[in-house]
Amino acid sequence: MKKFLSSLFLLLPFILLAQLKSPSEFLGYELGTQFTRHHQVVDYYQYLAQQEPSRLQLMHYGETNERRPLLLAFISTESNMKNLEEIRNAHLDNVKGEGAPNMAIVWLSYNVHGNESVSTEASMQTIYDLLTSKKDYLEDLVVIMDPCINPDGRDRYVNWYNQYKNTPYNVDPNSKEHHEGWWSGRSNHYMFDLNRDWAWLTQVESQQRLKQYNKWLPHVHVDFHEQGVDNPYYFAPAAEPYHEVITDFQREFQETIGKNHAKYFDANGWFYFTKEVFDLLYPSYGDTYPTYSGGIGMTYEQGGSGRAGLGIINSIGDTLTLKDRIAHHHTTGLSTVEVASKNVGRLNTEFRKFYQQKNFRPQHFILNGNPDKLEALANLLDQHGIEYNTGSNASYKGFNYTTSSSGSLRASKNSLVVSTDQTKGTLAKVLFEPKAKLSDSVTYDITAWSLPYAYGLDALATESSVQQSPYESSKETYGIANTNSYAYLADWNSMKDAKFLAELLNKKVRVRYAQKPFSLDGANYDRGSLIIVRADNKNLGDFTQILDNASKKYTKKLTPANTGFVDNGKDFGSSYVEVLQELKIAVLSGEPTSTLRFGEIWHFFEQQLNYPISVLDESYFNRVDLSKYDILILPDGWGYYSFMTEKVAEKIKDWVNKGGKLIAMGGAVDGLAKQKGFGIKEKEQKKDSTSNLQAFDTSEREYIKSAITGAIFKTTVDTTNPLAYGYEEPYFTLKLGDRSYNYLEGGNAVYLAEGQNTPVSGFAGSDAKKKIAETLIFGTERMGRGHVIYMIDNPLFRGFWENGKLFFANALFMVN
Ligand SMILES: [Zn+2]
Repeated sequence: MKKFLSSLFLLLPFILLAQLKSPSEFLGYELGTQFTRHHQVVDYYQYLAQQEPSRLQLMHYGETNERRPLLLAFISTESNMKNLEEIRNAHLDNVKGEGAPNMAIVWLSYNVHGNESVSTEASMQTIYDLLTSKKDYLEDLVVIMDPCINPDGRDRYVNWYNQYKNTPYNVDPNSKEHHEGWWSGRSNHYMFDLNRDWAWLTQVESQQRLKQYNKWLPHVHVDFHEQGVDNPYYFAPAAEPYHEVITDFQREFQETIGKNHAKYFDANGWFYFTKEVFDLLYPSYGDTYPTYSGGIGMTYEQGGSGRAGLGIINSIGDTLTLKDRIAHHHTTGLSTVEVASKNVGRLNTEFRKFYQQKNFRPQHFILNGNPDKLEALANLLDQHGIEYNTGSNASYKGFNYTTSSSGSLRASKNSLVVSTDQTKGTLAKVLFEPKAKLSDSVTYDITAWSLPYAYGLDALATESSVQQSPYESSKETYGIANTNSYAYLADWNSMKDAKFLAELLNKKVRVRYAQKPFSLDGANYDRGSLIIVRADNKNLGDFTQILDNASKKYTKKLTPANTGFVDNGKDFGSSYVEVLQELKIAVLSGEPTSTLRFGEIWHFFEQQLNYPISVLDESYFNRVDLSKYDILILPDGWGYYSFMTEKVAEKIKDWVNKGGKLIAMGGAVDGLAKQKGFGIKEKEQKKDSTSNLQAFDTSEREYIKSAITGAIFKTTVDTTNPLAYGYEEPYFTLKLGDRSYNYLEGGNAVYLAEGQNTPVSGFAGSDAKKKIAETLIFGTERMGRGHVIYMIDNPLFRGFWENGKLFFANALFMVN
């Protein structure tokens, strides 16, 4: 009996541990034999939080577009969890160079790409182990886990897979369960890639996550991904180019972590690679953004993704299963935590050093320009915790962004001044500097993103210290005081103005706009200025109220006018003053289009402009009566050569001739150019007679000669073209490739003029520069009673090129 009791005591800890259910026990199937739907993942995390309230806190930090919950799990020892807020404050004191913190913060982010679906499964095993067998790692650590950054995308994949899979699952790569189709689960609801959105914060998931992220600024951040089925596994250290702000320690510690992973992978006989493909430059990734925030930011890539399902045969005949994929991400997750637990002191010392080194050049950025654009930028900076002030009326010398040369600029009370000598100075430098230094031109993403160009502001980067005053938001009052005016006038030069107009059209207000500049009561109004006349809206009972509300909602200044008889220019009743009413807009979706490019348009209408659209899928496009729509948008994509048959082109042309307005973007322009009757012509390319006898190993370097990896170019603008209303010269465009079209016979709104084919920022290869010389960027063509608008570059790219959005709004509203 005695003997029996003592052995029971020996067993007791195991019995207690066994009370906490593993993911397999909780879910009722062995982890890796099914995909777990998001609500089940949430259930498991909630179960753990209920069972282990002293060691795990679950935070519901937001919701997705499709109303799925976004969660963070905080785990550590019982005594650490009691002091979680003190630990966080001590960590943030370290940023300021104060205190002596002795805890490290590790943040693990899973499933940012929805169909890279293994990582959420792995997260459940990882958190279970951190609460049980690996709990010793947590003595001096807080681990923060986001089990699924992109629940809408993940469930899109998982539900699709469950519907289409064979039973039992079929490893034949040709079977449907390995072919997801156009509406894939990679991106979020609006088809945005959340792993390109950390810096621009266009999406609700990113906005809500970053609020929490900035409260913690972890020492280590891992973003779990998947790559192609035939690639084994990628982990840190990353590939070149590294941004120059990345410290020696950040480089070195990536190596430390990578070597620890390698130890486990070697022991298991698993393959992996490092230092290839995934670089550290573009700031909007889940590895670079944390790196520019002082952490060790890393991407881990398992082979698999949306193709792999529960199991698939790869090209060398091996079977890759979901269980294998879980094992690998589970191993690197735990190994990361292990390395951090052994380096707590070092992580803290180096983190402090990162935030203390603030001798950056340039020291200050001065920004001037349109108040709406400055306000939009200030909004973004607020979300990043980047501080700014205004100027104190003095001129400074430095690099002038507009002229791309040294010059001077005045910093006034209307300017924004951003210093690199601040807590978020590294991030400020990366986002604002005119050019990122490239250690290598072969990169995974765009090489230029400088915010002054993206927001269309005059800017100066200076090494001088700048006298500053605190920023105060505008105290102007909005609405309409004089409710009996003949008309109300508003300027037209920003995305905010477009939102205001969209609101009025939604509310059935009739709005006029000026095609010629005019002056009235001593004020000058440019082309595009809005004229809202009472008599136009006499049938609208609550006209005054609608106008007053819209002015307040969009902080839009309206100037009352008591006459339509202008001092200079065209009177309000002139045929040069165009009438706008509610518009019916359709957007093509499906195979010819790119999901990302379609998604940018969808998001633009529903979440930025707030204007309704109809989505027409290509599968039934031929049956749709286009006469029901005023505007048809063809998003960029690769599939137009097969979609744009003569029949489809005839249908579209016929509709345009009768008064329709077609907006063709990127690849859609390629499709139209092959058809008769459109004025757009591809630029002929003279073949270079370069030698074919290059060494075999130089092919990647050769390829970059014809590449433009997201570079910024100065353009020429015809500000009298309706497509360019509200713009001033110059406009800086973000070019994503070498698509090249000749100038139109008329209607060239934005183009590269002679000598403008060298980027002001970013990389363009020598052949590509020749190809894009003197080509069209945005243009309009009259066709019968309608119009065709060509957009060779993409002003809506990733939703962050703020200064391009008005071109798109002009295409909708001003070209008539
Ligand atoms: Zn990914």
